[in-house]
Amino acid sequence: MTTTASWDALLVGDELAHLATEPAREARTASVPDSLQPLVRDALARRGIDALYAHQAEAYETAQRGGNVIVTTGTASGKTLAFNLPVLDALAADRHARAIYLYPTKALAQDQARSLGALGIPGVRAAIYDGDTPPERRRQIRGWANLVLTNPDMLHIGVLPRHDLWGDFLHNLRFVVVDEAHVYRGVFGSHVANVLRRLHRLARIYGAEPQFLLSSATIANPAELAYALTGEEAAVVDDDAAPRATRTIALWNPPLLDAEAGIRASTLGEASRLLAGLVSRDLRTICFAKSRRAAELIHRFASDRLDAATAERLAPYRAGYTPQQRREIERRLVEGELLGVTSTDALELGIDIGDLDCAISVGFPGTVASLRQQWGRAGRRGHGLAILVASEDALDQYFMREPPALLERRVEAAILDHANPRVLDGHVAAAAFEAPLDENDVVTLGEEALERAPHVPELRHTPRGWVWAGKDSPAARTPLRSTSPDAFLVVDAAGGDVLGLAELERAYSTVHEGAVYLHLGRQYLVRELDLQARRALVEPFDGDWYTQAKKETETSIEEALRVERRLGLELSFGRVSVTEQVVAYQKKSVADGSTLDTVPLELPPTTFETEAVWFVPRPHQLEGLEAMPLLLSSLHAAEHSLIALLPLWAMCDRWDIGGLSTNLHLDTGAPTVFVYDGHAGGVGIAARGFDQFEGWVADTAELLAGCPCERGCPSCVQSPKCGNLNEYLDKAGALKLLRRMLAS
Ligand SMILES: [Zn+2]
Ligand SMILES: [Zn+2]
Repeated sequence: MTTTASWDALLVGDELAHLATEPAREARTASVPDSLQPLVRDALARRGIDALYAHQAEAYETAQRGGNVIVTTGTASGKTLAFNLPVLDALAADRHARAIYLYPTKALAQDQARSLGALGIPGVRAAIYDGDTPPERRRQIRGWANLVLTNPDMLHIGVLPRHDLWGDFLHNLRFVVVDEAHVYRGVFGSHVANVLRRLHRLARIYGAEPQFLLSSATIANPAELAYALTGEEAAVVDDDAAPRATRTIALWNPPLLDAEAGIRASTLGEASRLLAGLVSRDLRTICFAKSRRAAELIHRFASDRLDAATAERLAPYRAGYTPQQRREIERRLVEGELLGVTSTDALELGIDIGDLDCAISVGFPGTVASLRQQWGRAGRRGHGLAILVASEDALDQYFMREPPALLERRVEAAILDHANPRVLDGHVAAAAFEAPLDENDVVTLGEEALERAPHVPELRHTPRGWVWAGKDSPAARTPLRSTSPDAFLVVDAAGGDVLGLAELERAYSTVHEGAVYLHLGRQYLVRELDLQARRALVEPFDGDWYTQAKKETETSIEEALRVERRLGLELSFGRVSVTEQVVAYQKKSVADGSTLDTVPLELPPTTFETEAVWFVPRPHQLEGLEAMPLLLSSLHAAEHSLIALLPLWAMCDRWDIGGLSTNLHLDTGAPTVFVYDGHAGGVGIAARGFDQFEGWVADTAELLAGCPCERGCPSCVQSPKCGNLNEYLDKAGALKLLRRMLAS
């Protein structure tokens, strides 16, 4: 057992920005339902489960009544059992019944398959069906398994287009389980929403009407997410009845070394000091860093602070470990042989490596949901400690000054847009390939699918409906992580492995020749960008600089879809086209952000259409700011800080958002600020900004007002992705404008 006293002495000093305690909570239980199949009851009893948490019983009962459910209780609250119970019950009762489980990663599917196996319920035959499944096993699984665990890509390319092989399975499909549903947001989520609609449609064609059971991290909009993903209403189960130990939360801000430049002491150094301090007090601690390099440095710095014997009890943990290697680390942690583990975020997604006392997050991981998942590992044995060590990023620093924004409000929404034509069209083609498309499909695919059908090349209208007239299966041409089919492949020059995709809209600014590219926490240097072959060749990179592209951006308004009077001005949401040309890049020092070199680039311009929110400040809101370049600098600083804060409202990365501010825009004839969705066609980010404009602007004004710098720094108005390399930024002018808007 640990007590607060054991870490009290460590959590002192100016670095401690906030200390809070989340109280312990008793479990609220419900009896195991009488209606549950005896085989399932027995299996639970064998595992020592003689009662359920109230939310598990609620999820089971809601599913029993035939409804769809989304469970959004906290980390380690038994969400898995909540959606497993109705499924296992159905499989035990009816030997024909079938279920599909969708997991975003193979490792998570493996974990779930193991825990289902451990329950040992006779008649439940679970099998993983993914890219690693050998062809000879696949046929066997289709015939034998009644619970198939797979991933969206396999469903999209491997299962749905070959539904004839799955006819029996689809005919008997009772449940579709979507675990970690909050992961399906943005571009990926918009695609997965269409894959689920296609699955639903085929199930109906084979005569089944499956129920959807989803689970998600805590987000602002679970019902909306369930609907957006499946096209079906779902009941929300969010009243967490699992017991919880007391948890101390510390927000830790490295000391400010230069207030004007916004430079703070090293985040990694602070994290390693905390890690060393905790393990030397015999506390089991996990430390999450954003990159592998950062994780390794923290490991090394912490080891240097400890005596040799204690340093032996620290280990780094990497993505790509096999289940055996993971279990070995878990065993060493459980037996107390290991005390500290440093890891990249790869671990964050649900995979369990045992019960720990403390969790340190190094830098805000991008979403509150991710942070909560990391923190959820601390204190499962008793009173736990969770720490966020802030980086210099604007959002991190905002949280340090406004802890309630992180700890108490729930504003972060998982958003997606399945109807974005750039996403939808590929799935309309795939659906038509799977079965002729007609009015009956509106129920599952949505009206938009039928509206798009005439615009999709290679679809022919016949008396049977729209049919696929192309040769090969169209699904393979629609990657699930891009809105443009002509994305660039990022290829490891040494082994030829494809590391990822860069959407055309972003390729020139992220994988131009000489760019430093980050993938799964590892750094690569782009050796060559082949425009013809749409391929970027990269090699592992150990240097201590990063790159920032300089680009010229123009926007033109295609159509304003919503115009409202908000905050005393005209606020618009609509379609814009964005033209960007990358003209140079800078090499910048990791240590202090200084510019090492500027290299010109010759790349063609790219144009894409997307969604944007834009506003034209009223003359009285700009009073005293009219002179150039003050006007442009004020608008530009406002744009940057708005972009920095938007991910708090719309779960996305700052890199998913673009912006443009101008003292005179051709379409509005006035000074204008644009914030646009960085993905062609838009995935709902700008729309969320429009809906939440007042709160978003209020947060942004607070961010600017609270930053200790005088004239703007990386923690407020400067942006790591500014195409103008952070020239022309006026913090005071931006704050004046935003405050006048809020006062309107
Ligand atoms: Zn600042
Ligand atoms: Zn900028």
